[in-house]
Amino acid sequence: MTDHHPDKPATLLASAAHFRDAATGGIVPPLYASTTYARDANYELPHDRLYGRDDNPLFEQAENILCQLEGGADAALFASGLAAMTAVAATLQPGERVVLSKQCYFGVRHWLGSEAARVGFELVLFDAGDPGALEKVLGNDPARLVWCESPANPTWEVTDLEAAATLAHAAGARIIVDATVMTPLLCNPIALGVDYVMHSATKYLNGHADVVAGALIAARDDADWQAIRGMRYRTGGILGPFEAWLLIRGMRTLDVRLRRSCANAMAIARHFEGNPNIREVMYPGLESHAGYEIATRQWNTGIGYTGMLSLRIAAGSDEESAAVAKRMATRTRLFAPATSLGGVESLIEHRKTIEGAGGEVPGDLLRLSAGIEDADDLIADLDQALAGALAAG
Ligand SMILES: *Cc1c(COP(=O)(O)O)cnc(C)c1O
Repeated sequence: MTDHHPDKPATLLASAAHFRDAATGGIVPPLYASTTYARDANYELPHDRLYGRDDNPLFEQAENILCQLEGGADAALFASGLAAMTAVAATLQPGERVVLSKQCYFGVRHWLGSEAARVGFELVLFDAGDPGALEKVLGNDPARLVWCESPANPTWEVTDLEAAATLAHAAGARIIVDATVMTPLLCNPIALGVDYVMHSATKYLNGHADVVAGALIAARDDADWQAIRGMRYRTGGILGPFEAWLLIRGMRTLDVRLRRSCANAMAIARHFEGNPNIREVMYPGLESHAGYEIATRQWNTGIGYTGMLSLRIAAGSDEESAAVAKRMATRTRLFAPATSLGGVESLIEHRKTIEGAGGEVPGDLLRLSAGIEDADDLIADLDQALAGALAAG
């Protein structure tokens, strides 16, 4: 008797959705570099693929994996996370209302703001850290789109996606979630009522800091989605075949990488909680974090609470604390002082330096991406960097 049940995510990922090369039996896909596809004797396209923008078997395979992981109806790969976001923004019309969480990937707020001015849609912000804020901004007026990021950079506010989806739909809006930091393993927003899930595949999905890529997954394959998906063909924001190949390879190990990153982040968070030189450990896995309860309810916390956390340094005045934070980012031996996240190697970043004067991030905040190294080594590295940064003052 065969017992039919859907494979668990780890199984699906490891096998790249049971890939077999029909021509050779290979268990790893070949690199399909062809930019065009020949017609047959009847002048038909034998496999429905026309041209390399945007047809490629590697895109289809990666999309199939993501679609199954997220429980979506369709998915599309893009040249970057921002190219995926651009495809969504390009479908917005003058006069429409877009509601965006104030806390989000740096640059998105400013970019959407300038798009709003150029195109003529209205952009309103809400505070993802205030549970009543979305309902308040939506008010009684219709909206086209609710856009949020959960957990939100770099303070990791967790959005109640089920509640947000209900509110968005009541306002006649679709809801999109930037789920880059959750990955499809920690949470499936579509199951909570969300319409579109966006990933910067540059981060955890690929996981090796060697591909820039993005993806969108849609709950339903309808006209609204086709308008978004069609933007890839029309505007050309496609991934290269080699990058798609690398992404498929990287995703095979997502489950093990993410579990280790989450465990490392939790160990670091617990280690620094209560340290007199740490004003706040921002991590949704700590009971002290405002997002802990929602994350525990809506995430698959058997895997963990993300590999991302932030530390706020306490070393006297705001200026002194900011100076120590910045020095600490230059004194780590294992944590690379670099932007980005979700790779196998740990990264540390002084966000204020990156965001500049326009950013609202406090100067004492360090954003950490926990890699898959040994937790004790990572903690020792942060301890020595903090001690050195304090002593150098
Ligand atoms: C990196 C990132 C993006 C942008 O994606 P790119 O692949 O760099 O274009 C968007 N959202 C989040 C949360 C990110 O971390």
